[in-house]
Amino acid sequence: MKTVKIKNRDKEIAVGKMICVGRNYAEHAKELGNEVPDKPVVFIKPSSAIIYSGEKIIHPRFSNNLHHEVELVLLIGKTIKDADAKSSEEAITGYGLGLDMTLRDLQNEAKSKGDPWTVAKCFDTSAVLSDFILKENYSLTLNEEILLEVNNKIRQKEKLNMMLFKPVQIVEYISSLMTIEEGDLIFSGTPAGVGKVVPGDKLHASLESIAELNCEVI
Ligand code: ZN
Repeated sequence: MKTVKIKNRDKEIAVGKMICVGRNYAEHAKELGNEVPDKPVVFIKPSSAIIYSGEKIIHPRFSNNLHHEVELVLLIGKTIKDADAKSSEEAITGYGLGLDMTLRDLQNEAKSKGDPWTVAKCFDTSAVLSDFILKENYSLTLNEEILLEVNNKIRQKEKLNMMLFKPVQIVEYISSLMTIEEGDLIFSGTPAGVGKVVPGDKLHASLESIAELNCEVI
């Protein structure tokens, strides 16, 4: 079973499912030629895809276009269904940073055929997680900046308040579709600047001083 590690605490929380939001920053939707959605685009990643900062992203042989997507990740602390905004806010227990690694060639092929994104999003090592910080130790203002560098060059850099759907809205919406359980993670979408990585590339991501991760593609 995969877990998330809580920063500065001798505590790990078992991960349930990972629910991801797509096209949550207008500039990113545009760079991939998508319309800005009127409700969040939702898909799932399996917990078997999880690796942690310091581990290696294994480039699948069945793709030629592996992309990075850096994202704020919400840790859910209680089980909710059809939650209102207040219960949705209360259900978020912590924050971390994640990479939603994506096989863009296979995703584009799936999109053009109307197929699900599973093959592009669920491969082993496609979810890289930082340590998480509990909300009781840090309250997010959304003025924080999320950053991703590849080989020390900035690729993605954006304020969290540029999200089209904010964390509480995302949780509220997803809870109208399915039960969200304690230990579930929600990837909140990536800002513009996604791009290709190849074996040997070193990725560094940060959410100011709140969360950080490093990994290498092999
Ligand atoms: Zn994503």
